[in-house]
Amino acid sequence: MTVELVCVGTELLLGNIVNTNGAYLAEKCAELGLSSYFQTVVGDNEERLGETLSQAVKRSDIVIVCGGLGPTEDDLTKETAARVLGKELKLSEQVKETIEAYFQKRGRKAAQNNWKQAMVPEGALVLENKNGTAPGLILEAQDCRVILLPGPPGEMIPMFEEQAVPYLRRLSPEVICSKTVKICGIPESQAEIMVKDLIDTQTNPTIATYAKTGEVHIRVTARASGKKEAQALIKPVVKELKRRFGHAVYSTKAGCTLEQAVVELLKKKGLTVTCAESCTGGMLSARLVNVPGVSDVYRTGFVTYSNEAKHEFLKVKKSTLKKHGAVSAETAAQMALGAARSGKADVAAALTGIAGPEGGTSKKPVGLVYIACSVRGKVIVKRYVFTGNRQKVREAAVASALTLIRDCIRCYG
Ligand code: ATP
Ligand code: MG
Repeated sequence: MTVELVCVGTELLLGNIVNTNGAYLAEKCAELGLSSYFQTVVGDNEERLGETLSQAVKRSDIVIVCGGLGPTEDDLTKETAARVLGKELKLSEQVKETIEAYFQKRGRKAAQNNWKQAMVPEGALVLENKNGTAPGLILEAQDCRVILLPGPPGEMIPMFEEQAVPYLRRLSPEVICSKTVKICGIPESQAEIMVKDLIDTQTNPTIATYAKTGEVHIRVTARASGKKEAQALIKPVVKELKRRFGHAVYSTKAGCTLEQAVVELLKKKGLTVTCAESCTGGMLSARLVNVPGVSDVYRTGFVTYSNEAKHEFLKVKKSTLKKHGAVSAETAAQMALGAARSGKADVAAALTGIAGPEGGTSKKPVGLVYIACSVRGKVIVKRYVFTGNRQKVREAAVASALTLIRDCIRCYG
């Protein structure tokens, strides 16, 4: 089955809004095992939208259109789709009632133009909109199905997940399952080399790598007649990936984040953790605190930006700061040890670096970050040079710190 996306909106063409619906729908369709060869963005223009839809229904099995279902004059997706497929619009009492109920519940009255949304092309399936007034629609023609979805993501996403996905699943009898092997501490280029032979010979399951900041995710996707059969195809490949990447695999669970894996490991080992942060200004603590139940292992953290603060709160020696500078292996190590002591924690991670854009020198370039991790008094310090802007450098440093904490606990915890 082939699917094609059409996103409608002049604001999209002008770059006033980012086409997040396009990215979302494309990803979901891929997960559903639908092949996607075309994606179009078209303005709120009857003629050009009509041309786009005519072409799409000819060459694709499924066309998903989002945007332009609203009550205003410039919303013409439904009318145009009906015209292209030769369907007449009729008032749907059921949709009218739903819209009435929507407004009643909010203590408001429907405007005259809201009734435009109760007009439904003949034979169409109506998708209820629980978060707005414009219903979605599925129009079936001889060789093609056209799914119309509202533009606002808060309306489109729940409608797609709850109503369009089951419909799409019924269209294609095969099921698609996937599992993601999540890896930290290995650059994407290297990870790709390590699985190149598997990728080159893949058919079913397929293997794809995705780079995240400081992480690589490898998704294994299988299609089969049933869920069990698909999982049986995935299992040996996941096993092989785990064998190749060893300890660098932090999880294969859906939804598990790196910080969650770190917190789980701390809990398992009965260790507490603290952070001493300079250039990341608390981002490492914030990531740990993302995890519900982190209070079992995390009590406090330190943001020590100036030299004085590093000395006052973490007891970094003035002589160290003077001799080696704030961005140095020596300072990072003392920050970690000082934080562990003041924060009364078994494990402490410290970061100090030059996030830029200013402040770099030939010896200490922008992107240089020292990360230290102490586990019960034993300290490891690593030197990193990250690329990218200030935000990127800081995010990469935090991901590396989580990886380093994980490695240190595994070795010394
Ligand atoms: P409404 O009832 O709000 O008019 P609609 O179905 O007519 O909904 P549009 O008018 O095309 O949809 O878009 C409404 C809003 O939805 C846009 O202003 C934008 O915020 C959001 N939106 C529309 N299309 C997209 C898209 N492709 N990606 C992300 N957001 C979008
Ligand atoms: Mg609109």
